[in-house]
Amino acid sequence: METKLQELKQRLSVVNDLYAAGAVLGWDQQTYMPPGGAAARGRQLATLGRLAHEQFTDSAVGKLLDDLQSYGESLPYESDDASLLREVRRSYERAVNIPPAFMAQFLAHQAAAFDVWARARPDNDFASVQPYLETTLEMSRQAANYFPGYQHIADPLINWSDYGMSAATVRALFAELRSQLVPLVQAITSGEPADDSCLHQHYPEGQQLAFGLMMAQRYGYDLNRGRQDKTHHPFMTKFAHGDVRITTRVKENDLSEALFSTLHETGHALYELGIAEELDGTPLSGGTSAGVHESQSRLWENLVGRSRLCWEHFYPQLQAAFPSQLGAVPLDTFYRAINKVSPSLIRTDADEVTYNLHVMIRFDFELDLLEGKLAVRDLPEAWRARYKADLGVAPPDDRDGVLQDVHWYGGLIGGAFQGYTLGNIMSAQFFAAANQAHPEIASETARGEFGTLRTWLTQNIYRHGSKFTAAEVVEKATGGPLSIQPYMHYLRTKYSELYGL
Ligand code: ZN
Repeated sequence: METKLQELKQRLSVVNDLYAAGAVLGWDQQTYMPPGGAAARGRQLATLGRLAHEQFTDSAVGKLLDDLQSYGESLPYESDDASLLREVRRSYERAVNIPPAFMAQFLAHQAAAFDVWARARPDNDFASVQPYLETTLEMSRQAANYFPGYQHIADPLINWSDYGMSAATVRALFAELRSQLVPLVQAITSGEPADDSCLHQHYPEGQQLAFGLMMAQRYGYDLNRGRQDKTHHPFMTKFAHGDVRITTRVKENDLSEALFSTLHETGHALYELGIAEELDGTPLSGGTSAGVHESQSRLWENLVGRSRLCWEHFYPQLQAAFPSQLGAVPLDTFYRAINKVSPSLIRTDADEVTYNLHVMIRFDFELDLLEGKLAVRDLPEAWRARYKADLGVAPPDDRDGVLQDVHWYGGLIGGAFQGYTLGNIMSAQFFAAANQAHPEIASETARGEFGTLRTWLTQNIYRHGSKFTAAEVVEKATGGPLSIQPYMHYLRTKYSELYGL
């Protein structure tokens, strides 16, 4: 059995390397590649994706998994090997259902769609991406239909990013959250809006990047194992345990853009960097679900990065970095500015309170598109109508409407967005558990120290990689199932104080 396990691991390591090579090409595509490289890059990514898929779905892998099935079940549930066999069995069954020809076709389409979108967004040109998006929708349905037996056509797609969730469970959770969020948004927005003009002065790019990276390092981002580059849609990517990269974008008239996107991507990176080194190069060497991943980016961006405690330490340094812009601005004014609640058009710029309403719109549209209730050509208009109804604002153009997010132009339609809100919900649940175990986290934060918090997160979440499902991680780390209560408690406490509710 040991020999068979070694052979399986050897094969999986080849698959891992092919995906990692693809990730390097994808990182370059979104950072430094000149536009002329697009067509070849799409083909190269498709080739690597196809090779990885072929290697992984090789019948020899299936045979090894069958041979090792009862051996895996005889091992302790929490052991690395038992977890590996469980996880690989699940992803193998998923992968063999997707024909290689479809996979290759989809990867090529994905690269082409991304390239068209990257030009269509600045040009406000939905018409040029519409046919690509129609193909994406058709292929998303096709992908789901390789997994018959679902209740809702989105279920297989949701399961890929947030294993264990379904359209029905997400809908129910979102409905409960929405019923508590909408009155809070109304209470906040009926009062005096926060003044965030201090953030909208001229902040030179170089100093912004330096300050963000300094904070990322204080959080624990290690530049021996990472680096930061610029892109148009910030992301984190991992090539190996020793190479986890972040990207950001800078607006010189908006201090919050690069700063908080850096703290966000740093949270994703800390998760990946904290995964046990023994799992490197195996299928367990990544975060366990989109939701748990996002819980870490949001925890470091918002629960820490937008807290008053954190800025008690960092604000004097920020003032020193930007004396003419912030020298005369009190901490409280800055704190209110970075926590301004105001219904807006762009999801990634949205405040913590309205953010989830943006996610719910996209989640509902994914279900409607997949069900055939909504046609791609009607999406821009549906987008405007829904923003007007839910947030009271309507985008003047598609650039700030349906073209704003990369997801549908660089992936499938279905399962792409619910993880953001699941992540917000989990972030507060994890943070509450960490603070309960270690009340000194608050005073450390006020000194710009994060070791106790990061260690708790590493021990309870990061080091496991994808050994356990999201539901198992939540249960192990917090002692209970997923709940919106810690999140609503956090929002109510923070914003009641800020807005005098
Ligand atoms: Zn994120």
